[in-house]
Order: sequence, then C-alpha cells, then structure tokens
Amino acid sequence: MVRTEILSVGTELLMGQIANTDAQYISKKLPEAGAGVFYHSVVGDNPGRLKECLGAALKRADIVITTGGLGPTQDDLTKQVIADFFGLKLIEDAESRRRIDSFFEKRGMKATPNNYRQSLVPEGSQVLLNDNGTAPGCIISGAGDHEGETVIMLPGPPKELIPMFDKYVMDYYRSRADSKLVSCFIRICGCGESLVETKLMKLIDGQTNPTYATYAKDGMVTVRVTASGNTEEEASELVRYGTDQVAKLIGDDIYSFDDEEPEEALVRMLKERSMTIAFAESLTGGMIAQKLTSVPGASAAVAGGVVSYTDAVKHKLLGVKQKTLTEHTAVSGQCCREMAEGIRAAVGSDIGVAVTGYAGPQVADEKVGQVFIGVATADFTYVKEFSFNGSRDRIRTLTAVNAIDLTRRIMQDPRRFEDRGQ
Ligand code: ATP
Ligand code: MG
Repeated sequence: MVRTEILSVGTELLMGQIANTDAQYISKKLPEAGAGVFYHSVVGDNPGRLKECLGAALKRADIVITTGGLGPTQDDLTKQVIADFFGLKLIEDAESRRRIDSFFEKRGMKATPNNYRQSLVPEGSQVLLNDNGTAPGCIISGAGDHEGETVIMLPGPPKELIPMFDKYVMDYYRSRADSKLVSCFIRICGCGESLVETKLMKLIDGQTNPTYATYAKDGMVTVRVTASGNTEEEASELVRYGTDQVAKLIGDDIYSFDDEEPEEALVRMLKERSMTIAFAESLTGGMIAQKLTSVPGASAAVAGGVVSYTDAVKHKLLGVKQKTLTEHTAVSGQCCREMAEGIRAAVGSDIGVAVTGYAGPQVADEKVGQVFIGVATADFTYVKEFSFNGSRDRIRTLTAVNAIDLTRRIMQDPRRFEDRGQ
C-alpha cells in the first residue's frame, strides 16, 4: 500500500475561510488506485513552516501530495520551497509558457513577468499540464539523499486540481501500486446506522480482507466493502464474497449495490419496466420531483407532479374530497390515499406518489414529523404513516427519501403491500 500524506498549503485554510475540499476529494478517490491516505496536514503560506511540514510528511509517507500555492503571486511559494528542499533548480517548461501566452492572448491581455514564474518547474520533474488554468502541477521523484521520496504538487483551485488529479495522478498511483484495491458501495434505506452495524457486527469484528465500513447520511446508510488482491480479478472476487455476506444480513433494505442515490435506483427500475410516475407533494413542495428529474434520462419515467400545499389545491387539482379534508384533515392517511390516486388519475401515470405531513416547527410539538406517504398503483394503493425527528429541513428530506424508497419497495415486491397499510 502506497502511504500518502496530503499537505495543503494556504493561510485561508488555517483561518477557516475555506474548507479543505481538495483534501477531501483526493482522499475519497485515492483508495481506488490502491493507496492509503494516512495523514492530512495544513500549513499557512510560510516558507519555514512549509519546509518543516514537508520534512515530517516525507518521513512517514511514501508520497506527499501538496495542494495550493502554485500561482503567480508572492504568497505562492510551494514550488520554490519544495525545489529548495530537494536541492533542485527551477527551470522553465516550454509548453507551460506557451499555454500562459495563449491564455492571456485569448483574453486580449499580456502576461506579466510574475505570470511566467508559474511555468517554472523543478528540474527533472514530471510536468502535469493544467487544462483549466495557468499553473502546471508536477511530480518530483527524489534522488541521492532523497531517494524514495515523492512529492506531487497540485494547484489549489478545485476546478484546476480535480481534472489534473483525475487525468494524471490516479494513473501515477496505479503504476506504483503493488496490490489492487476494489470496493463496492452498498446503499441502504430504512435501517439506521447502528442497526446496520449490529447486523454486520460479526463481519466487522473479524474483518481482514475484505474490510467493511459504514457511513450514514440523510436517513440512509452506505456500507463500503473493500478488498485487495494481486490482480483486479482476485480483489473483485473477494469483494463479491463480502457483498454477498452483507446482502444476507441486511436483506431488502438494500436498494443498490452500485452506489446509486435512491432516485437513481428508482428511475432505473421505472425505465426497466417502462413505467411512468407522478407526484402529489405537500410538505416537500416539489423535492421528490426535483430529485427524480435530476437523474439523466428521467424524462422516460417521470410524468410530472403537483405541489398541493393548500387544501384547495388538494381538492381542486387532485380531487381530494371536501369531506376527507374536514373529517380527517389534510394530514391523514385518507387524504394521502386520495392524493396518490388523484395524481395518478389526473396524469394517467402507472404510479402516483403522495406525501402529506407536518414539517414544523409552527404546529403542536407532538405533530411535528408526522408524515403520510402513499403510493397508488393500478392494483392497489398503499399508505404508510411515518414519524420523523429533527429540523424542518431534515423532516422534508427524510420524507422525500422515504417516499422514493417506499415506491422502490412496492415495485420490487407488490404482493407484500397489497391489502396492507392505512
Ligand atoms: P492560484 O493560481 O489561483 O493562485 P494556487 O495553486 O496558488 O492557485 P492558492 O493560491 O493556494 O492556489 O489557492 C487559490 C484558491 O484555490 C483559493 O482561494 C481557494 O479558493 C482554492 N483552494 C486552495 N486550496 C484549497 C483547498 N485545499 N481546498 C479547496 N479549495 C482550495
Ligand atoms: Mg495562489
């Protein structure tokens, strides 16, 4: 495993003015190339302290990736400090100089001398051309006293760093990896993180290869299964074994083995079955439609929807009976059922999904988080009551996610839902 440290350079980071999203991005991607990120460090634009951090980082890592400080201004000193550290001269990279000229020409401007400073790279280093800015990155492989030490310098702006990282750095790591790492991301809805962990306890406790890790977000849990092998096939085989174990223990709360968002999985299923869907949304105000339509190719599956916030809209556009609204109120299983059936009929879609509930905070405490989700199909309508905790935002998000997940479950196994529910 190639041990890596990310050394981010920038006083802005230390002062909390920006978040270190570069380090986050790199850390997330590197394991795919068989590397392990062991440390993150951050240092300001100060040559002495940068040199000190670099020395410490190279003692404990095989590769140090620096971010930031490659630009044209006085405080951009990463390249100079690192070249000094390795005892290397800075020399001009002709292609980078040409790109700087053409960058300014295109904008009808002339480069100033400090702009050309960016085209300097430590002698003998591998230049990483910048397709989205003027400062190239580079890879230095140390020699002599610095044998075995590698530093990869990347620019700070994410729109420059990310393409450069994807284009050059991942391949560089792959070429150095002695083992191949393969991961599978299993996505789960309807089972909290601690319950997932409890169910996977035996696997997690005894883990060696593959390894298992859980993450939680917006009421959903992801289980990462990672294995290493001498070849990609060997690692994939181990991951398949691990994934089967997780599937056995978690069951149908798993909605994807492919790291999909719930809406991606649902759109995929609808398309596979050539079915269409429509939404009647009260408390989510269109969030469900927004999520589904954010999936490329959703137009084949999503018919449309109504934001039926007031009783009047529920009645006039969806056909919810006045009697239902007065006897049961708009936040009731009966109203939700009529909304789901109403939108399905109005649109002529195969499935109608409705949500109604109290997102809070301006209602009685005991009502906040009470939500009904209804799914109408050609054969039956299923309505389920939920009780969510948290802020208004969280309740709305959980409603949208669970509406998508309930629809997925009903499509997968309709018989389990027929004649049940409210
Ligand atoms: P430039 O040529 O723009 O000066 P640079 O390589 O010198 O780029 P910095 O000067 O350190 O990089 O940072 C430039 C900008 O890049 C910052 O203002 C910030 O917006 C962004 N940036 C820098 N470092 C990071 C980081 N670690 N994570 C996210 N964004 C960053
Ligand atoms: Mg800069």
